[in-house]
Amino acid sequence: MNVKLKCRICPKGCWLALGEMGDCRVRQNIDGKIRCTTYGYPCSLNIDPIEKKPLYHFLPGSSILSVGTPGCNLHCRSCQNAQISQAGMRIPAGEKRLPDDLVRLARKHKCPAVAYTYTEPLVSFEYTYDCCKATAAAGIKNVLVTAAYINPEPLLEIGPYIDAANVDLKSFSDTFYREICDARLGPVLNALIQMKAGGVMLEITNLIIPTLNDSEEETKTLCEWVVENLGAETPLHFSRFFPQYQLKHLPLTPEKTLLRAREIALQTGLHFVYVGNIQSNEGSHTYCPNCGNLLIERHGYTVRRNRVSVGQCPACQTPIPGVWE
Ligand SMILES: [Zn+2]
Repeated sequence: MNVKLKCRICPKGCWLALGEMGDCRVRQNIDGKIRCTTYGYPCSLNIDPIEKKPLYHFLPGSSILSVGTPGCNLHCRSCQNAQISQAGMRIPAGEKRLPDDLVRLARKHKCPAVAYTYTEPLVSFEYTYDCCKATAAAGIKNVLVTAAYINPEPLLEIGPYIDAANVDLKSFSDTFYREICDARLGPVLNALIQMKAGGVMLEITNLIIPTLNDSEEETKTLCEWVVENLGAETPLHFSRFFPQYQLKHLPLTPEKTLLRAREIALQTGLHFVYVGNIQSNEGSHTYCPNCGNLLIERHGYTVRRNRVSVGQCPACQTPIPGVWE
């Protein structure tokens, strides 16, 4: 029984000897089979505004049951959830929550969707998969909040049960991915293309970290790639970095950097560009890309007014991509 097994889930492809744990600190070779040690034991369970994921074009104003399991296959030095993402099963297990429990909880709290979030849901693949399948069968929608560092085959398996995703595109530099996240850029881009082709409603988040990924050239290249490969209608969120975890020595992202990134993205042709973690009306609201009409007014995570009507701008009838009801 000394045979090493290769984990099939992510591009790291860890070879695990008996008893050994993968780089995600979740997947382990137990009795000659790779198992998901977090199965049934989320460490976080909350009801959040869907805007917090962030998803701005998917059931705006709704509450979403948000589930997080310990562990992640990336080790971002900027992680805001390092206590749970880098912990694996070293953190005490909470109450057992099987897929049917999530269905019951979502119904009880009138959540139209469940989000797999806070850490990397795809490393707890078997659990996330079973939950998605159970909730989808119950007519509840599924949302992934993910870094999308996953192999094509498992993504193909889970894809049919995923309605929407917010994917962290952390940088457009492979060096950044290697040095800051302990991953690679290429597989993330491939996963994004695959999700788009599979009909997943995508929104992208790019956390802008001063000195590391804040150059205008990088922002422009990233936006051009999104326009070309995912479409100009893909919502893009630029998010403000707060000094934390292993990057406490870096400054807070200046507001002007985020607003400049938004300008660049709009110039590149993207229709819906938002900025997160700062107060900015134009970066919070949704405007019609055709006539400029204010469609969705937001304040923080609250939707103050939603004028999208049957998926269209009420002024010029331009279809607004998203899931609106
Ligand atoms: Zn319009």
